[in-house]
Amino acid sequence: MKIYNSLTKQIEEFKPIEPDLVKMYCCGPTVYRDQQIGNWRTFCLSDFLHRALKMNGYKVDFIMNMTDVGHLFESEGDPEGGEDKIEKQSSEEGRSAKDIVDFYTKRFLQEYKEMNLLEPQKFTKATEYIDDQIDLIATLEDKGYTYETSDGVYFDTSKFEKYGELSGLTVENIREGARVDPNPEKKNPTDFALWKFSPSDKKRQQEWQSPWGMGFPGWHLECSSMVLTELGDTIDIHVGGEDLKMIHHQNEIAQSECATGQKFVNYWVHGAFLTVDGGKMSKSLGNFYTLDDVKQRGFSPLDMRYLFMTAHYMGPLNFTWEAIQNAKNSLKKIYEIISTYEHDPKAQISEKYVNRFNEKISDDLNIPEALAVFWELIKSPVSEASKLNTILKMDEFLGLKLQEHIGVEIPKNVLDLAKMRGEYRKNGIWDKADVVRRQMLELGYIVEDLPTGEYKVKKKF
Ligand SMILES: [Zn+2]
Repeated sequence: MKIYNSLTKQIEEFKPIEPDLVKMYCCGPTVYRDQQIGNWRTFCLSDFLHRALKMNGYKVDFIMNMTDVGHLFESEGDPEGGEDKIEKQSSEEGRSAKDIVDFYTKRFLQEYKEMNLLEPQKFTKATEYIDDQIDLIATLEDKGYTYETSDGVYFDTSKFEKYGELSGLTVENIREGARVDPNPEKKNPTDFALWKFSPSDKKRQQEWQSPWGMGFPGWHLECSSMVLTELGDTIDIHVGGEDLKMIHHQNEIAQSECATGQKFVNYWVHGAFLTVDGGKMSKSLGNFYTLDDVKQRGFSPLDMRYLFMTAHYMGPLNFTWEAIQNAKNSLKKIYEIISTYEHDPKAQISEKYVNRFNEKISDDLNIPEALAVFWELIKSPVSEASKLNTILKMDEFLGLKLQEHIGVEIPKNVLDLAKMRGEYRKNGIWDKADVVRRQMLELGYIVEDLPTGEYKVKKKF
C-alpha cells in the first residue's frame, strides 16, 4: 500500500512497525459546538484509511481524541491568545462547561455513526488524561525543555533541533518574519504553552492542581499524551486536517520526541480543506455548514460521504448544493440499480474487479478512480448476482450501506395496484392507468414498462 507522507513530502510504500498491526491516531473534534462539514472531510479521511488498511489485511489500533478542555481561540496573531472555546460557549449558552461537552459529544457520536465511520478502539477525552499530561510536562521539565512565565509553563522550541521539520517553519524564519509576538514573555515566537495558569481575575470551570499551580493543559499536549499512553512512543500513522500541520502537529512532535527520545510518527497524513462556494467557509458569509444543515436540506450523511469520495483527499473539493445534489443522484442511482439485482449469496465475486478496485484504493487512496471501477462493473456484462456480491465486497470499503438496498420486497397492495394498472393498459384505458401509477408513486414505488410488454415494480429512492 502506498501513502503520501507529509513528513518526507513523498509517496511511500507503507511499512508498519509490527508486521500485521497498524497504530493510528487522528485528531478529533473540539466538542463545543456541532462540527462543520470540513471537519467531516478529515474524519472521513481517517475512516477511508482505516478501511483501506483493513482491506490490506492489517489489524488497526485506532484512537481518536475529543478535546474537551484547553482549546483556545486565536487572538491578535497569537494562535492561543484567546478565550477557551468550551468556557466561552458555556457562558454564551448559559450552561455549564460539562453540559456543553456532554451535549456536543453526544451529537458528534451520533453523526459519526450516521456517516458510517468505523469505531476507533477508543475515543479518548483530554480531561481523562490530566495526570498523564502533568507527568509529560514533568518529564520535559526534568530534561530542561520548559520554562515558566507569568501565565504558564512553556516549551522552549529552540531546544528541539528538528523543530520545523514537518511544518517548514523554523524558530529562525519565524523570528525573521514581521509578525509581532503578542506574548513578550515567550523566549521564541514558536514556543507554546504546556500548562496554562487559571486567570486570577476569573474563575474557570475546568481547572486542576499541578506542581506549577492551578490551571489546565495546553491544547497540543493532550494529543501527545494520549498517543504515548494509548499507543506507545512511536506510532505508524497520524491523521489530521492540513490546518493542524503547521503548529499543532509540529508541537506534538516536539513534545513527544523530546520526552521519549524516539521518533513519534512514521507517516503523517493530512487531508485538504473543503471549500464552500469556491472559498473558505465563514460565519459572516453564512456558509458555515454543519452536517445538520445538510440534513435539513434533505440530504443524507451518506450523500456527504459519497461527495467526499469524488475527490482525492489531498486535492481540492468544493461544496455547493449542486455538488451534493449530484452526489445524492449518483447514490440514488446505485440504490435503484442494486435493488433490482437478484441476490444469490453463493454467486461468485469477480476477483478481477475487486483487485482493480483494491489497487486504486491502495494507491494513496485513489477513491475517485476506485469509484470509476465500481461504475464500470455496474455497466459490465458480469451476471447480476455476481455483480451484486462484488459490489457488496467493495462496500466494505465504500461504507455506503448498500446491503440495506438489496432485494427490496414490494408490498402486496403495491403489486395489486401494478396488476390493476397493467389491466387498464391492456384495455387501452390510459387515464385510469395513469391514476394508478400516481397512486403507486405516492406509496413510494415506480413501475417500469419492459419492451416485452411486462412490467417491473421498484422502490423509489
Ligand atoms: Zn491533535
